[in-house]
Amino acid sequence: MIKRVRYLFSGVVQGVGFRPFIYRMATRHSLSGFVQNRPDGVVVEVEGPADAIHSFMSSVNGDPPPLADVSGISSGEVEIKNDKAFRIIESEAGGPGNVHITPDIATCGDCLKELFDTADRRFHYPFINCTNCGPRLTIIKDIPYDRINTSMSCFPMCPLCQEEYENPADRRFHAEPNACPACGPSLKLLDEKGNPLSDRDPLKRAIELLLSGYVIAIKGLGGFHLAVDAANDEAIKRLRSRKFREEKPLAIMVRDVETASRISMIGKEEELILLSPQRPIVLARKRGGAIISPAVAPGVSDFGIMLPYTPLHHMLLEKHFHALVMTSANQVDEPICIENREAVKRLEGIADFFLVHNRDILMRCDDSIATVSSGERRIIRRSRGFAPIPVTLTKSYPPILALGPQMKTTLCILKGNLAFLSPHIGDMETPEARDFYQESLTLMQKIAECKPEIVACDLHPAYYTTIFAEGLPASRVIRVQHHHAHIVSSMAENGIEGEVIGIAMDGTGYGTDGTVWGGEFLVASESTFTRVGHIATYILPGGEKAIREPWRIAVSLLRQAYGDDWPDVAKSLDIVPEKSFYETIDRIMKQRFNSPLTSSLGRLFDGVAAILGLRRKVTFEGQAAMELEAMARYGSGRVMQFTIEEAGDIIHLDFSPMIRAITKRLQAGKDSGELAFSFHLTLQVAFCKMARTIRDKTGLNQVVLSGGCFQNRILTEGTIAELEKAGFEVFFHKAIPTNDGCISLGQAVCAGAQAMR
Ligand code: ZN
Ligand code: ZN
Ligand code: FE
Repeated sequence: MIKRVRYLFSGVVQGVGFRPFIYRMATRHSLSGFVQNRPDGVVVEVEGPADAIHSFMSSVNGDPPPLADVSGISSGEVEIKNDKAFRIIESEAGGPGNVHITPDIATCGDCLKELFDTADRRFHYPFINCTNCGPRLTIIKDIPYDRINTSMSCFPMCPLCQEEYENPADRRFHAEPNACPACGPSLKLLDEKGNPLSDRDPLKRAIELLLSGYVIAIKGLGGFHLAVDAANDEAIKRLRSRKFREEKPLAIMVRDVETASRISMIGKEEELILLSPQRPIVLARKRGGAIISPAVAPGVSDFGIMLPYTPLHHMLLEKHFHALVMTSANQVDEPICIENREAVKRLEGIADFFLVHNRDILMRCDDSIATVSSGERRIIRRSRGFAPIPVTLTKSYPPILALGPQMKTTLCILKGNLAFLSPHIGDMETPEARDFYQESLTLMQKIAECKPEIVACDLHPAYYTTIFAEGLPASRVIRVQHHHAHIVSSMAENGIEGEVIGIAMDGTGYGTDGTVWGGEFLVASESTFTRVGHIATYILPGGEKAIREPWRIAVSLLRQAYGDDWPDVAKSLDIVPEKSFYETIDRIMKQRFNSPLTSSLGRLFDGVAAILGLRRKVTFEGQAAMELEAMARYGSGRVMQFTIEEAGDIIHLDFSPMIRAITKRLQAGKDSGELAFSFHLTLQVAFCKMARTIRDKTGLNQVVLSGGCFQNRILTEGTIAELEKAGFEVFFHKAIPTNDGCISLGQAVCAGAQAMR
């Protein structure tokens, strides 16, 4: 019996090789009809014997293209049209939901086979790709996504490549970056001044140089990496001193999963993420062992590991190294380098050589970062491999442009029920970063095909993004409080609405009262919130300075716990670096000179780390907290005291009793690992007790977590477990970072909800 069935596939189905895949499946089953991209998904009509259609659908469901993520299929029988063949027909343009640009994807298995097949015409060709893999976002300059609008436009295809490109049955059908050694980009090795070296085989030479301990800047998908042999202490130290990056952990690229498992605890979840087509850096607990230099990630509990994701990476790691340090090539605070000449200039004095190529990177895109906590994948930096796939929301909003915070910034364009988040942009502290911000905005507007007139930004008047918002020709600017944005972003990705208890724990954010917030308990909905509680405020002596010098925060916490007796305790624990500082810091605090009050949990972590003698100064944000987590990793402990006090209609969570307990036990010679763990435990229990207090008052039972502090897995897993034990329904980030990378999404949804009222 002949029939004709019409299917609509929705989800991530465009730009992922879905149409050629459907074509191959339909022709394999001798069906006629067509496939077409539509604004709402991919439409397929197949005509033929009922059982052929049935087996067509089972092969479609059984083995979809790796990048496709089908979220819905609707179907219905339609009238027979007696088509002669199966065709791919022109796209239908316009409308929301039409997603043209996909992320950059790791080299697929089919391409890898060819890469290492001596008989293949692309043997050892470092730019091999197909419809299922290769560069996308990073090579586009405009939409639609056609070769002419990419940095491949200057490489006319040779006849063989052209044939593949035009053949619907070929796995390179409409693979826009398709290339081969005869027609495509090629590698080159440059010296430190940018002069080309005459090596026949630049890759082989680069490997020799890495083996000799040189620092090589390597052009990747979304930018340059600085690479050194991860087993070579001296080379790593050299890289660190040149990059002014004394201690911050460096990401490593390892040859394969087996190697990853030798150096870190790789469970099933971690393995899946490592091998996923997005290939993010995975933070996984270190194991002991000698194949990685301890200088890679001193003091912290994790290695940041990724697997090779370009053909060049696979060739680099094929034989000679277990692992290479592969850290983003930039100067402190600046965005990642993408251009050959730019790299030579900006990396002067850092890189000894440059392994470059002539396929331009048009959009910067850092490596993404993921980890596993409470058994689930959590994205910590959403960039290469993920951006610009939009986040699908459960309802639609008016168009909004959200500009993000000051640090770890992303942009977000909200259009209908889709939230287009930019790749990670970073900290808005340098002119280079601000240029990158502007570039990202222009590109995201093209990708989303939307220039919203309503703009959302942070409350902080001095943030670059806030000032930027004011300069835009907007019909309306909506300011969203930082921690409210945190909670709303977590709600949005979890698809929940209405009032919830929000627990936002982070470094700092501007409060509605002008003080520095960072340990917040909110009753929040998408559009509004009430601050119902917070960590009892303490002084940040010296403001910004206290962030770099946690001993100052330790002193402030001791003063809060012991009053005027604080110097005795500080002396006994050797917290203040110099004798002469006692008087100065006391005066600073008494006069409150340049010393704001804060409720920040991030800074509390810093202060406790300093009390425990971990460090008086930090070289990067979050360092003390990461080390405190590492220290707690092997401890056991017990809950210490804290107080919950209602002051009018706001609840104060005061950790002074805990500070006293920590110092007393330290003075009694207790192990600091145990105290670090007890600290984590106390926070978990205190957060849960706060949530119960709020539940008693409001009847709310849904708790939403967000904020950079929840990157700490001990804290997060413990808090979630504690809350669930108390009967709460708990929601936490998965696909969107819990750190400030989520702020633009929260701003967008909050402003969208306000605009609808
Ligand atoms: Zn491929
Ligand atoms: Zn070719
Ligand atoms: Fe934050």
